[in-house]
Amino acid sequence: MIRVVLVGAAGRMGQAIWQAATGAADLLVTARIDRRENFSAEDGVWTDDAASVIHPGEVVIEFSSPAGAAEAAKLCAERGVPLVSGSTGLSAEQEEVLRSASARAAVLRASNFSIGVAALRRSLAAALSALPGSWDVEIVERHHRHKKDSPSGTALTLAADVQARRGLGPEALRHGRAGAVGPRPAGEIGMHSLRGGTWVGDHAVILAGEGETLELRHVAQDRAAFAHGALAAARFVSRAEPGLYGIEDLLERPGSAG
Ligand code: NAD
Repeated sequence: MIRVVLVGAAGRMGQAIWQAATGAADLLVTARIDRRENFSAEDGVWTDDAASVIHPGEVVIEFSSPAGAAEAAKLCAERGVPLVSGSTGLSAEQEEVLRSASARAAVLRASNFSIGVAALRRSLAAALSALPGSWDVEIVERHHRHKKDSPSGTALTLAADVQARRGLGPEALRHGRAGAVGPRPAGEIGMHSLRGGTWVGDHAVILAGEGETLELRHVAQDRAAFAHGALAAARFVSRAEPGLYGIEDLLERPGSAG
C-alpha cells in the first residue's frame, strides 16, 4: 500500500485526486493538507501543518500553488519523501527549490499529467519534423476563469518543445497581438490565453503554411485525466531513486501510465 499525503487537497485538483485515489486499491491517502479556511467536513485527517503529517515511507502529491510546491519540496528533501508536483507558474527561485530537493528525494514534476497531452507533444514533434521550418506556429490555450497563471504551464511546455526543435530562444514567444503590429515575423511563436467559464484545459497548436493549416488539439473534459496521471506518478516515485523526473519517465515504462 502506498501512503499518500495530498497538498492542496481542498482545491479542484486535490478533490479530483482524492476521488481517483479512493478507487485505487494500492493507494491510501493518509492526510489532506490545505489552508484551514478551506478544510472540508469530510472524514479523515485535514491539517495546515505539513510538517506534522509528512513522514518517511509516504509519497506527497502536491497541486496547490507555487509557494505550496516550494514548501512541500523543502519538507520532502529534509525527510527523504518522494514528491509528485503539479503546480504551475513557479518562479525561477521556486523551480530551483524543487531541483535541489531532487538531490535528496525523487521528484516528478509535470505541467500536465494527462496521457493525451503526452501524445499531443509526440504528435507535435512528428509534425514539426515533417513540415518546412517556414510554417508558422501559434498556440491557443483555454482555461476556466479562476486560473491564476497565464499562459498555462502546458502551453509553455508546448512552446519550449517548438523552441527546442527549431533552435529558437525565449524571445520567439509573442503573447497576443494588438495595434499596428505589421506582418508576422518568421520564427515567432504566437501565444494566446483564453479565460472563462469552466474550461478544464484546452490546448491547440496551429501550424500554418501556404494554403493549408494543421491543428493539433487536446481537450481535457474532466480533471480525472490529470488525477490518474498523478497517481501513476506516485506509484513511480515510490520506487524511484532520488532525482528529477518528468512525465516522459513515467511513459517510458510500458503500462505504467495507469
Ligand atoms: P485551486 O485553486 O482549485 O486549488 C488549490 C488549493 O491549494 C486551494 O485549496 C488552496 O487553498 C491550496 N493551497 C494553495 N497554497 C497552499 C499552500 N502553500 N499550502 C497548502 N495548501 C495550499 O487550484 P487547482 O485548479 O486545483 O490547481 C492547483 C495547481 O495545479 C495550479 O498551479 C494549476 O495550474 C495546477 N494544475 C496542474 C495540472 C497538471 O496536470 N500538472 C492540472 C491542473 C492544474
